[in-house]
Amino acid sequence: MEIKKASFYTSMKHADGYPNDGKPEIAFAGKSNVGKSSLINFLANNGKLAYVSKQPGKTRLINYFLVNEAFYLVDLPGYGFARVSKAEKESWADMMEHYFAAAKFLRALVILADIRHEPTEDDLQMIKWAAHFKIPFLVAATKADKVAKSKRYHYAMKMAKYIAENLDIDTDFEILPVSSAGKMGKEKLLGYLEKMTGP
Ligand code: GDP
Repeated sequence: MEIKKASFYTSMKHADGYPNDGKPEIAFAGKSNVGKSSLINFLANNGKLAYVSKQPGKTRLINYFLVNEAFYLVDLPGYGFARVSKAEKESWADMMEHYFAAAKFLRALVILADIRHEPTEDDLQMIKWAAHFKIPFLVAATKADKVAKSKRYHYAMKMAKYIAENLDIDTDFEILPVSSAGKMGKEKLLGYLEKMTGP
């Protein structure tokens, strides 16, 4: 698959506004700075699509992009800022739970985690929600250009093992090393989006 057309569709904070118009959607989630905006822009061949402000304390929204007039790519707010208050963290968790409960056409979740690091508690929480709502997920191991080619597989396996050991879920999932800077993983990730949004 190729993304021929991608445009910003809408932003929202509350469940009431989700399009839910029958088009399938795929959500992207990850800790802030993991490379989510860069990856979305890389997939869409558009350097400016996901430019959203990422400063701590700013209202963070759920952003919908319409892709090829066929499905929504949903950019969930980056999480894991060190300095957010407990109340902000709870509001994020609330927002995510509402999202999962309300997004009737959500077909898959792409969780981004830096290939060099262990997934965070928040990453594991996202995976738990996906599993709870029976949403298939793929882990995109970002910034794969930062590790030697010969070690990428090893890093990806280490991450898969960490997730399997730290979560009691019985869902199969894929791990895909990606890099927007090194232009890696695009075809495979687009293939996944195509498969998950297809009939
Ligand atoms: P977001 O907060 O998850 O949307 O992350 P951004 O896409 O804004 O990227 C955060 C930082 O990581 C920026 O400085 C990017 O230049 C850098 N970055 C993003 N993707 C890559 C990548 O594939 N490789 C490397 N080396 N750096 C990246």
